[in-house]
Amino acid sequence: MHEAKARQLVIDTRLKLGLQSTEHCDVDRAAGSLGITCIKRPLQSSMSGATLKTNRVKVILVNTAKTLGHQHFTVAHELFHCLHDEHLASRACMVESFERASDSEQVADMFAVHLLMPEDAIFNQLRLRKSAEVELTLADIVHLEQFFGVSRRAICWRLKGLRLITREQNERWCVDVIRSARSLGKSTALYLPTHESTLVSDYAEKAVEALEKGLITESRYEELLADAGLLEEVLGGAEEADIVD
Ligand SMILES: [Zn+2]
Repeated sequence: MHEAKARQLVIDTRLKLGLQSTEHCDVDRAAGSLGITCIKRPLQSSMSGATLKTNRVKVILVNTAKTLGHQHFTVAHELFHCLHDEHLASRACMVESFERASDSEQVADMFAVHLLMPEDAIFNQLRLRKSAEVELTLADIVHLEQFFGVSRRAICWRLKGLRLITREQNERWCVDVIRSARSLGKSTALYLPTHESTLVSDYAEKAVEALEKGLITESRYEELLADAGLLEEVLGGAEEADIVD
């Protein structure tokens, strides 16, 4: 049920973004296009990310102490909360928990799975690499995770769901991830934390523009800037995990 709901929401979202079902989705660009502010910080806490929504802003927080692949999944998961989780105001998340999570967290994870790794795109990539009915190898897995920019855990979970790999292969391939990619001559950036601190937002720009065009008053402009200050508070709050519901 979660999967059917998530799949439909992904179809709508991809359509809005103008993405084909065989294409990789750059989640950072998607967030930017959808007017969502993305704050990236290395956090002490084990949480993956968080979402904060007010009437005026939508903010995603991403923990960059996690691997790059995990960060992409986090952005995709938080996009669900931002775009489709109607009554949500704030939430801190541990993503890639899959069936161990609560209901709405499961839908958010499913949304991320389908947004990042659409079935059409998986089969298209495999068609380009090999003839049908040939069993997948570790090299195929590494190719797919690098194409989609996701963790080994996420790609294996997806392929297991599509019955393209067995539970036993999943367990065998989810260890020594970095070494296996390196042995195939691939970049290991995806499997390492980035520890970056960035704030990607067109928020301040929009507020200035609205003020200049006379669309908002000076006092409204100040209110908007106060909202931007709220972003910093979210960061502090998330670190203390006091917005966990
Ligand atoms: Zn969540």
